[in-house]
Amino acid sequence: MKKIIALSLALFLSHVAAQAAIAKSYTDVKKFLVNLNATYPNTTKLMDLALSDSGDTIKIVAIGNGPIHNMVVSTHHGNEYGSTEVAMAFAESLAKAPIEGQTVYVIPVLNISGYNARNRYESFAGDSQDPNRDYPGPCGTDGPFKLKSTHALANFIDQQNIVASATLHTYYPAVVYPWGISSHDLTTPYQSTFEQLVKDATVESKYQTGNSTEVIYAADGTYEDYAFWKHGIWSILFELGFTHTPSQSEVDTMVTVNVPGLRRLLQNAPTARAADHDFHGKCDGRMRSHDRHDE
Ligand SMILES: [Zn+2]
Repeated sequence: MKKIIALSLALFLSHVAAQAAIAKSYTDVKKFLVNLNATYPNTTKLMDLALSDSGDTIKIVAIGNGPIHNMVVSTHHGNEYGSTEVAMAFAESLAKAPIEGQTVYVIPVLNISGYNARNRYESFAGDSQDPNRDYPGPCGTDGPFKLKSTHALANFIDQQNIVASATLHTYYPAVVYPWGISSHDLTTPYQSTFEQLVKDATVESKYQTGNSTEVIYAADGTYEDYAFWKHGIWSILFELGFTHTPSQSEVDTMVTVNVPGLRRLLQNAPTARAADHDFHGKCDGRMRSHDRHDE
């Protein structure tokens, strides 16, 4: 009898897993969030971040009720739909079992018009902008805040006193920490803390870890550096997987190897912001030409 129960449970679970299909548009993402909230009303709360330039409401799901506020933001880049899938899977995992003592805010898609068009850039007033170059930064920016989405997120992390933050992108694969700016002075006073956090985040994935500029490339005006520079938020960037166009099975693998790492990262992150978060080094404008705008 026990065997039959175990077998039917396994069949049921594989059926549930097979049901999850890659979302085709933001409508699917919203449906997912509404279902998640209906299934886990005690641990989840749906919130609106703001209206985007396209007139869409950017949705947030808050998970758990703890006093420490942490955050996962995905899909600054609209073409990086694999990161959206990981964010939704992580939200579901947290809804089932919130992190004790924390409220975790998850934004599956920041750049809605880009996501619907599978386009990196976000449209505004007849123009377009790379959302992850739209924040102020110590070595410059392509913005700041040409977009309503990025401006709203900047206000949110301030108002909610976010302590640790993970952003999800595709692809490299790597998990990296500040600074990611155009400079040769890339260390912060918190090197060993950041090294431990990315180690915690990559136990299952075995992704490469290190400093953002060194592992990926220099990029000015990113959310990751802004969050640390402005507020001392423990800000970690995930470049997930091996492609911008993952198949269903590649998405499943990205979820399997990154959801436990995201949880461990937030569980083990410091419970207060970093105190010494100014940039003390020198910028090197020549390094801006290294920015490939493709991750
Ligand atoms: Zn990206």
